[in-house]
Amino acid sequence: MPQENPPRSDQFWMAEPLSILIQAVLTKAFNLEGAEIEVATGQVLQYIEFLSQSNTLEEAWQQRSFYELLVENAEVDENAPKSSHELFVSIFRSNRQMAPTAIDFETYFPAALEQVNIPPVPVPIVPISYRFKPGDPVANEVTVVSWIPGLELQMRTPYWAALNEFFAARRVSCLWAEPEAVRRFLATARQPLRTVPRLPRETMKGILLDYADKHSRPWIDLRTFVPNRELIQEFGLGRMQHFTLVPLSWHKPFLTMAVAKPLSPQSKAFISQGLHSPGTIFTDVLADENLIKEWIGRVASDAANIKKFAASVRIDTAQLPDAKKPKRIDLQSLQKNVSNRQPEDVVEIALARAIDCNASDLMFQSLAHNRTLRIKFKVDGDWTEPVELVDIGQNVLSFLKTQARLDTSKSDKPQDGQFRREYESREYLFRINTTFNFNMETAILRLQADINFIPTMEALGMAPYLCTAIREFIASPQGLMIFTGPAGSGKSTSIYSMLKEQPARRMNIITGECPIEVVIPWATQDEISEGGRYTFPSFTRSLHRRAPCIAVIQEIRDAETGEALIGIFNIACRVISTLHTNSAAHIPHRLEYFKVPIHYTASVLKLGVHQRLVRKLCPACPEEVPIPNIEYLSATGIKPEWLEEATTLLRGTGCPKCQGKGYIGRTAIFEALVVDQEIEQAITLNQSPREIRSLMSARGEKTLFEQAVRLAARQAISLEEALRLRSAGE
Ligand SMILES: [Zn+2]
Repeated sequence: MPQENPPRSDQFWMAEPLSILIQAVLTKAFNLEGAEIEVATGQVLQYIEFLSQSNTLEEAWQQRSFYELLVENAEVDENAPKSSHELFVSIFRSNRQMAPTAIDFETYFPAALEQVNIPPVPVPIVPISYRFKPGDPVANEVTVVSWIPGLELQMRTPYWAALNEFFAARRVSCLWAEPEAVRRFLATARQPLRTVPRLPRETMKGILLDYADKHSRPWIDLRTFVPNRELIQEFGLGRMQHFTLVPLSWHKPFLTMAVAKPLSPQSKAFISQGLHSPGTIFTDVLADENLIKEWIGRVASDAANIKKFAASVRIDTAQLPDAKKPKRIDLQSLQKNVSNRQPEDVVEIALARAIDCNASDLMFQSLAHNRTLRIKFKVDGDWTEPVELVDIGQNVLSFLKTQARLDTSKSDKPQDGQFRREYESREYLFRINTTFNFNMETAILRLQADINFIPTMEALGMAPYLCTAIREFIASPQGLMIFTGPAGSGKSTSIYSMLKEQPARRMNIITGECPIEVVIPWATQDEISEGGRYTFPSFTRSLHRRAPCIAVIQEIRDAETGEALIGIFNIACRVISTLHTNSAAHIPHRLEYFKVPIHYTASVLKLGVHQRLVRKLCPACPEEVPIPNIEYLSATGIKPEWLEEATTLLRGTGCPKCQGKGYIGRTAIFEALVVDQEIEQAITLNQSPREIRSLMSARGEKTLFEQAVRLAARQAISLEEALRLRSAGE
């Protein structure tokens, strides 16, 4: 966090009148008269005095709120509130026009804000959502959070225009939050906290301000909101779907909801009927309708809901479906159809969940002794904790087999198949593989993406020179390109990304894959399998007579395939394949091992790319860590200049958004061997991988480890993640 420097003059002009306004509003919460006002004013002055003893504003913001201190110092009296929450309840109850529109700060960290500007006054006023028109640096609206009850109402007067100038917004709305939550946010906020205005003061000159009236509501940006499962379970998904709203905070009796349109009194009455919590006081904030809907969709497919769902599942095996057309997953009707649930509902919800959380695979296991079902999802390369459901394991496994037209009577033999689903108007292919061992039957489903959702090469993280080299390779009449890297390093995605660019119909594209991960409508894709139509060697030999423009041999893993490769380049053909090696420089030797002569490799190899995936930091929970000392760097093989861009490094601490992992999503890093004349000669002369690597270095090609450390220096990944790459032999 930045140190508080002595306030500059442009901070003074606004801090002084704002502080006075805040002092006045602190007492407004009480319905006071005459002498009581004087007593209260005295207490406020004492409180401000107490705050001013803090060394920095950040220290003042960590002090207890005025109201918490009131409760602590109250004389013992039967009627006195016992907790600050009780005091807040009584303040909001006795002041009808003070809407307790509140936000649960624990679940709504303003992670999307690049920086947090807080006015230099002793009581924190924290911005959480800005609404902009594209290209306009002055925000139409800012929503702030404070622990002062009724501040929202006060801000609707021109006296508070200083806040509009500070936040550079035409309108300022305020939500209430528990003082403790505000303190926790400020203590752990990772965005830089600043006490200067967001834009230069002159920016606001001549800008028309728009004060809220009694009908207007604050607006919030739902994108930065993390679901609070308990709250949602208590409130009920059905209610959220029916009224298209998201509950934001429920400090009984106050319930705040995010809505697209204000709720009618009838709707509020209807909602309150089922809440088992009498006297609920409703408030609402506005949010974008499509974000609310997206949000409800995600909740509907949440793993916690699968479990709740299964509680009322009726056990009988469903009919064999028609597998020709993809069946639609309709979450809305699944959720509503409470009375007639089947094991298939659990499957459909799990499939929707897998799509929603970008899982690559999902696993269903039925334990033999008690038929307990376990469901796990593979996200970013890791399996999640299992969701366990009693008694329905066998029924669910049977249902999955009927979907893929597998033999339901067989569980002892492995089986493979596939089925399709349409979900939110996209089609998905699920490949299923079932296995059995003595204590459980397992079905692993792999989710196949649509080619339209494969990113471009640039979006995958390939440098411009590499994209150019790849496009030149594709445009050339013939040659070989090899991707290397361990399993799960994104090689197939890179290949699909290349193929996606090729114009349909003009080229004969033939692929041999095991399995086919993404369906390319304009290519001929052959599935390679033992006992199937093609093995890798027979597929490769078949290419000689099929005249492809581009051929993909998913993997070269035996000498038979290597030998079959030699004949292909008699026809004009570009071949793309993969190998398992630890660097691009090892490709010629690896090919030689598979019986591709070195002089042959030298003449056909145009491009080798080695790649790995690294896990990106979760943007919501980073923690600064210092750059390690020079001894540590040299012990781990990190050159200090790789970190020259960095002042500090980051690591994820874990939060609800990343399920405690500290990272979300992955990005690829690439090392390229672009074969020019000199490298071709080095290959012909059978030079060692080390010598080839030094030629690559001479061309400025950084190792993957160096690239990863440089990513850490730019705070995209943690240093641990970079070191993980090194320990894996990069
Ligand atoms: Zn996180």
